[in-house]
Amino acid sequence: TLKSGFAQMTKGGVIMDVTNAEQARIAEEAGACAVMALDRIPADIRTDGGIARMADPKRIKDIMAAVSVPVMAKARIGHFAEAQILQALGVDMIDESEVLSPADPEFHIDKSRFTVPFVCGARDLGEALRRIAEGATMIRTKGEAGTGDVLEAVRHARCIRRQIDDAAALDEKERRAYADELRVPYALLNDTVAQGRLPVVNFAAGGIATPADVSLMMQLGVDGVFVGSGIFKSSEPARRAAAVVEAVTHYTDASLLARVSYDLGQPMTAGRLLDFAGKKAWLNAAFGIL
Ligand code: PLP
Repeated sequence: TLKSGFAQMTKGGVIMDVTNAEQARIAEEAGACAVMALDRIPADIRTDGGIARMADPKRIKDIMAAVSVPVMAKARIGHFAEAQILQALGVDMIDESEVLSPADPEFHIDKSRFTVPFVCGARDLGEALRRIAEGATMIRTKGEAGTGDVLEAVRHARCIRRQIDDAAALDEKERRAYADELRVPYALLNDTVAQGRLPVVNFAAGGIATPADVSLMMQLGVDGVFVGSGIFKSSEPARRAAAVVEAVTHYTDASLLARVSYDLGQPMTAGRLLDFAGKKAWLNAAFGIL
């Protein structure tokens, strides 16, 4: 369908978080297949706290004017009014994102009511298929955004893979029970088993910071990657951006990965240390002095 067309086009690509037109141009120049327009990148949301909302429409429009690649933007989980506004702005895809503050404790956006396509995060097969049943045309791992730590993205990608294999091993009666357990439609679980993978484009996201991380996730079977804080929190954004694009294309070529990783400078530094410090601005200031 038209709605899944955009997600299909991003396959094998890198989608980069950007907060202004200049970053968007750097991302496009480096070969990003799309950009995600944000007021604050996840690492800063983690450290600065507060309520994280949809970006200011001016910021989104500035970014749309600056690049020719597709522009995505985030809405809060369940915040269908933010999504309506983003659709009216003409963004190419909406990310209903746990990186922002959740807006509804119970319901996600009914994405089938929109013409704009949606991507949603998932930690396991149940979450992924529930989001697809709600109309998402793309799924990404939730990972642990803003940390530069790939651990959770790996956990989520492996979990989805394992649960598809588990479902494939079941007979019909057992599989119906498994669909109930996952709280997903049986037909959708069956379709997933038949395809041997999620029935929509499936990216990795949340903590991916290096070309090696990109290769790891691609070798685990995802269709592409979101790189959020990893690029514009690193010491050399333009070079790192180009390196992760090379990595997604040539993820099995270890010699090339060695070359593009060579002397790449510091990856993002907001790791567990800042995660801990993030809740206290004074500790941040203290690190600045040190
Ligand atoms: N993920 C986040 C970040 C949430 O806030 C919620 C609930 O609001 C969920 C997942 C719930 O998802 P599901 O209905 O698929 O269990």
